Amino acid sequence: MKAAVLRTIPGELEIDDVQIDTPGPREVLIHTVAAGVCHSDLHFMEGKYPYPTPAVLGHESAGVVEAVGADVAHVQPGDHVITCLSVFCGHCDFCISGRPALCDKATVRRPLDAPPRLSAGGQPVFQFLDLSSYAEQMLVHENAVVKIRDDMPLDRAALIGCGVTTGLGSVFRTARVEPGQTVAVIGCGGIGLNCVQGARIAGAGRIIAVDMVASKCELARTFGATDAVVASEGDPVAQVLEMTGGGVDHAFEAIGMAVTAQQAFAMAKRGGTATVIGMIPIGETVSVPGVELLFEKRLQGSNMGSNRFRIDMPRFVDMYLDGRLLLDELVSARRPLEEVNEAFAAMRTGEVARSVLVLDESAV
Ligand SMILES: [Zn+2]
Ligand SMILES: [Zn+2]
Repeated sequence: MKAAVLRTIPGELEIDDVQIDTPGPREVLIHTVAAGVCHSDLHFMEGKYPYPTPAVLGHESAGVVEAVGADVAHVQPGDHVITCLSVFCGHCDFCISGRPALCDKATVRRPLDAPPRLSAGGQPVFQFLDLSSYAEQMLVHENAVVKIRDDMPLDRAALIGCGVTTGLGSVFRTARVEPGQTVAVIGCGGIGLNCVQGARIAGAGRIIAVDMVASKCELARTFGATDAVVASEGDPVAQVLEMTGGGVDHAFEAIGMAVTAQQAFAMAKRGGTATVIGMIPIGETVSVPGVELLFEKRLQGSNMGSNRFRIDMPRFVDMYLDGRLLLDELVSARRPLEEVNEAFAAMRTGEVARSVLVLDESAV
């Protein structure tokens, strides 16, 4: 099958022929229909987070089940599915205590001495985040997929696989925003826009979009932002504090930089919470004024929106189909797999909300 392979870090992806194995007892073979181009892949391509190579990247996808292993119970061939990197084992402490997004994943991967799921030229190819979506097929553990309704378009369903769930989940599950509360979102890319619309769906009062690029702040209004702060035109913290008379209930950081995480903490009012969604590069430290902890301010991380994706994703599908969740507006470009590097180049310019790679146009 055709797949986009990362061979060197830093480096670009190469379209190559990759062999995919047949499903083990609890594995599912998926015909990939669409895969979103998420910023996290770029972090790995640029070496900000380590990953072994060669690897097939991609982790935000939807498709149709082709085949299942003997012990698979959740899906059958023909089912439409969204994949999620928050593959859960179902029996570790995190899974049992209701936090499956933090699962240690010890038993959802093939043992090291077993044949690899992906290979090329007789050598193993690493599977990215247990998924590897930039490929015509995926072979994953059944707990990495959720069945969805057949009337959901799969190119938009793919976005729910990472960005949408990360943004909405950070609001609904990690921060638990209450109706009427004030919210600021720093960074209006794919994740930040979903954070904004999560706040709108949750019934937040004022929703302040903060970005360096004025056009992205404007786009955020489409998703539910009530106010915009263009960070390149003055100190965004001072502006948010002034607009709100002392800060917001919830500030979200959706970029992945220490400086913006600190800004998020500074934008939170007394008793407020800063939630960091972005991936801050390894080795960077976030520091906050200790005295502000006396005001019961909180700084917390959010991993994939603290999701319980088997429950969350079908709900998000319903929200899209009943008009509350905007997904069409998130997609700024559709491209074939061969244009994956162009999609990342567009992302680097900062102008693109989301590119979607469509691997099977006929199945969307
Ligand atoms: Zn992602
Ligand atoms: Zn687990």
